[in-house]
Amino acid sequence: MRLMYEFAVTPAVTSIRRRGVEIYDVAPDSLGAEMDLESGDRIIKVNGRVVRDYLDFRFQTSGETELVLEVRKRSGEDWEVELERAEGEDFGLSFEQIVPRQCANECIFCFCNGNPADARPSLFIKDEDIRLSFLYGNYTTLTSITEDEIRRIVEQRLSPQYVSVHATDLDVRAYMLGVDKQRADISTKLARLLDAGIEVHAQVVLCPGINDKEVLTKTIFELAAEYPRITSVAIVPLGLTRYNIDARLTRVTPEFCRDVIDQVSAIQKELHAKLGTNFALLGDEIYLRGGRRIPARSHYGDYPQIEDGVGMVRSFENEFTKLMRRLERDGWTSNKTSGTIFTGTLFAPVLKKMIDKFNARFGTGLIVEPLENSYFGGDVSVAGLLTGQDLLSARERVVGEFVCIPKQMLKSDDAIMLDGMNVNEVSRELGQPVHAINLQDLATLLLNKN
Ligand code: SF4
Repeated sequence: MRLMYEFAVTPAVTSIRRRGVEIYDVAPDSLGAEMDLESGDRIIKVNGRVVRDYLDFRFQTSGETELVLEVRKRSGEDWEVELERAEGEDFGLSFEQIVPRQCANECIFCFCNGNPADARPSLFIKDEDIRLSFLYGNYTTLTSITEDEIRRIVEQRLSPQYVSVHATDLDVRAYMLGVDKQRADISTKLARLLDAGIEVHAQVVLCPGINDKEVLTKTIFELAAEYPRITSVAIVPLGLTRYNIDARLTRVTPEFCRDVIDQVSAIQKELHAKLGTNFALLGDEIYLRGGRRIPARSHYGDYPQIEDGVGMVRSFENEFTKLMRRLERDGWTSNKTSGTIFTGTLFAPVLKKMIDKFNARFGTGLIVEPLENSYFGGDVSVAGLLTGQDLLSARERVVGEFVCIPKQMLKSDDAIMLDGMNVNEVSRELGQPVHAINLQDLATLLLNKN
């Protein structure tokens, strides 16, 4: 898996499996409130069918207007609630998060091996969960998918699914995942999903000397043979922190990135002529580290795997250019707002170019500061893995009236960074307001400061 969504639970909690799904909150005056449902109650069955999580609840209530819910109240009482609702009427219920199923692989590049020993427990969760793949784009390897899970994907149309393939060569795949060849072989399972019309996006984590060169070429062509059932393959580079000391792994270099770009560009041309799509898309990191231009917007189609860092830079540049045009059209003038925007060392030069243009056009005094990642070290240079300590160590570089940090630095459901520091703490230490934003929201921030 490559981390797209971080869990709010600790591994200890994941081992407890209770029946039903717990209600987290009930909106006032909602159908749920009318039914006297409360936070802490558990919905066990809907119309006689077992509910395992909120996806089941959503699926089993969808389109139903007459319902019988079996509820285990917080007090321990069992209720049976009969209700009628208008078509599409919302229950006003929010539910506990899905408890991720753990993976049974021992991938040589697993991100868990790259964490410092004192990283927070949620960073050690090795999830392999088809529900999270559907909901958040987390990748699964399908090595331990059960018959029930396959049926569930098909029945509940949990499509698309994001699958880490890494290599179609079975020996290589088994070696990379740390499993035997029988387990590594997902051809039958994959075929069942594809035959049932489930859309699949594939991923390759590219490890120099292991699944590159001819192994990569074979992988791309064998996956492309299933196009359009397999929609795309994202190729992202191996990322090693200072804690990855596995001698089987070789660090990705700029030269390696340039070779991969040359190799894959030729394949993309061939596939484009045949399929009308590039199909195999390289992660932004490969272009940035190789010192090559990020491809044009048309290269990415509808950005099928943007959340995996494939086309994110191109999309951002385009949005930023649109924003500048809009501000120009609206005659926006700044009051010389100044501030510091921190980001990872990889993206900083790209962002700096854009912000320099912005300053020249609108008279703002924004500066972009690259932040080294001292927490993970190694070749980690993306913004999402920066920490509070990294920010504090750059305090002398803060200028202006505010600090911006990328929103990806924070936990998905809390203003906490990977080292446990929260935004308010960092803000206090820096003596500046700190805004965690999507860079697309920078304009809103500036407009509010005007
Ligand atoms: S062992 Fe592999 S599949 Fe499992 S969490 Fe780590 S990288 Fe993902």
